[in-house]
Amino acid sequence: MTTQTIPAADTAGLPSGTQAAVLHGAGDLRIEHKPLATLGPNDVLVEMRSGGICGSDMHYYADGRNGTNVLRQPTVLGHEGAGVVIAAGAQASVAAGTAVVIEPALPCRDCPTCLSGRYNLCPAGTCFGSPPTDGLFARHVVVPERAVHQLPDSIPAEIGAAIEPLAVAVWAVERAQVQPGHRVLITGAGPIGLLVSQVAAARGAAEIVVTDVNDDRLAVATKFGATRTVNTAATPLDLTNMDRLIECSGNTKALADGIQTLAPAARATVVGQARPTVDGIPLGFLQRYEIDLVTAFRYAHAFPTAIELASSGAVDLRSIITSTYPLEEAAAALTAPVTDPTNLKVLITY
Ligand SMILES: [Zn+2]
Ligand SMILES: [Zn+2]
Repeated sequence: MTTQTIPAADTAGLPSGTQAAVLHGAGDLRIEHKPLATLGPNDVLVEMRSGGICGSDMHYYADGRNGTNVLRQPTVLGHEGAGVVIAAGAQASVAAGTAVVIEPALPCRDCPTCLSGRYNLCPAGTCFGSPPTDGLFARHVVVPERAVHQLPDSIPAEIGAAIEPLAVAVWAVERAQVQPGHRVLITGAGPIGLLVSQVAAARGAAEIVVTDVNDDRLAVATKFGATRTVNTAATPLDLTNMDRLIECSGNTKALADGIQTLAPAARATVVGQARPTVDGIPLGFLQRYEIDLVTAFRYAHAFPTAIELASSGAVDLRSIITSTYPLEEAAAALTAPVTDPTNLKVLITY
């Protein structure tokens, strides 16, 4: 056994507390002063610059729960966040002043699933902003160095939070195995669907059909890679022989109808939050044509690709951001996509 003396980080002049958006219950979000966690040897202290509002945050705020996860104690919301490192622990190598985006899910790194590389599936993993784990809607956060990815100058921390949903899209397209020349159907024109559309285009998809029930959202889809849009509330899907379906709406009928457009040996990928159990999936059709039905959960190893795609301009990160709110108005930010459905990604700024 080796003993090692870890010099204490120079924490002089650093904040010992911060302001955060704390959810106490459904509809009860308070901006509060919170003590900051001590900076461990492998941690970094990040001064936040942007936080992204996600559907899950909206569910926690509206209902006090998201899917099966229930808010049982006051929790800082937020899992999409970027900022600037202002201090690093003695063994952390990120320099102060580095702009970073935070990968919010922390796997255990020791279980067979983690060791196989599928760390997003770690049964023991936690995720910032997933109650009871405090999240990123705070002026400062202390996070392990391994959770941060450096941002290039082309992606300022002020918009860096949007890298997280882009990582979701990168992983979705990876799981979908989109190949050059593919005809791809994307159901759901929310931020994830529109980012998936751009990533699929970057991967060489020849045709990208985006569906939604909201015309405003479909109107912007053509700016984000869609070659055709269909409002399925008004027009039935008339597609056949599609190579890939990437379901981004969470709507069961969209999944079932989308599957019916697929060619033999095609692939359907569920990205939008699925219901616990689902009736109406055409299992016989899937089997008859050996269509693979797969799912995507968060992401694994997707942040570097997301940063590259945004940095090269292959994905237009800025256009996906439709409004920003100061931290003090986090509650308004959490309802903005509902009060104005033309909103795509809403950011909190600090
Ligand atoms: Zn998210
Ligand atoms: Zn694990």
